[in-house]
Amino acid sequence: MFRPNVADQIHLIEHAAVNCYIVQDGANVLLVDAGLPAMWKLVVAALRELGRSPRDISALVLTHGHFDHLGFAARLQHDLDVPVFIHPGDAYIAAHPYRYKHEKNRLLYPVRYPRCIPILTRMSLAGALNVTGVSDLRTLDTESARAFPGHPEPLHTPGHTDGHCALHFGDRGTVITGDALVTLDPYTGARGPQIVSAAATANTHTALESLGMLAVTGAEIALPGHGMPYNGSIATAVELARQRGAT
Ligand SMILES: [Zn+2]
Ligand SMILES: [Zn+2]
Repeated sequence: MFRPNVADQIHLIEHAAVNCYIVQDGANVLLVDAGLPAMWKLVVAALRELGRSPRDISALVLTHGHFDHLGFAARLQHDLDVPVFIHPGDAYIAAHPYRYKHEKNRLLYPVRYPRCIPILTRMSLAGALNVTGVSDLRTLDTESARAFPGHPEPLHTPGHTDGHCALHFGDRGTVITGDALVTLDPYTGARGPQIVSAAATANTHTALESLGMLAVTGAEIALPGHGMPYNGSIATAVELARQRGAT
């Protein structure tokens, strides 16, 4: 599903409960996250609708290195020579997308939360089990991000992974929160602002602490890695996520 302008010149591509974003700035395009492999053709179609082409992509930023955010990253890098940026703390996972830390056993979640089964099935059909790792990554930091379309400020928000970063677009009142704050947890099927469950989170305590980094932005739109955009004070979304706590 293509949802244009979920924020000022920021467009959402959603498939199998996974989100990635196109950020426009004049003729230039920044991609944030690379979804699942099957999402590439949706991104190409969305760019066409926006009057742009894959050649206009100046960079890909990965909020973190999990397989469901990495789907077409290697393809962009090899076929189109697009530079791929990530926080150094997640470079290892990006190169080995199935070796990541999580607090609890993922296999138990479908038993306890059967609502997640159709979501995880759709993710598999979209290529979730066949994601190629990415190496030759560039460092995402304040300096490098300044040159990206939309000029975001990366916010290091560890917990979900060690190197997770959200992206703050100050002049657009928007934060792309990645998996630091989601509105749908693929592992439980639960909706509403929350951190991702311990099935896919390295340290839920740290993840809850990192929410403070998002709250202080004062943003009015939060664009998560999973689930619908949250329109309203991000501080409220953070408060709801804190109340819900870890699952
Ligand atoms: Zn993740
Ligand atoms: Zn994710």
